Amino acid sequence: MDKVRQRIDDIYKEKEGLQKEFEELQNNCPHDLYKIGLFSWHVGNISTSRLCIHCDKYLGHASDIEDAKFTEEQVNGMGKTVYSSTKEK
Ligand SMILES: [Zn+2]
Repeated sequence: MDKVRQRIDDIYKEKEGLQKEFEELQNNCPHDLYKIGLFSWHVGNISTSRLCIHCDKYLGHASDIEDAKFTEEQVNGMGKTVYSSTKEK
């Protein structure tokens, strides 16, 4: 097997391992605190969303109030508000 082929296969394996660890961390996170940030569903579509401050997981759309606060913070260069979340299920 040539060197490039070998390295490419190693990288695939590494990415898979990292992806698994990433998902495990998100699955075991309490998501108890979140901030408002921009989340992209797909190219050309960005919305203000609740993102876990620990693991960056998307936790739902920002409310109108959170959305307004986010815009205000962006415009004024203020620090981002951290919100407390109660687990919804
Ligand atoms: Zn989390």
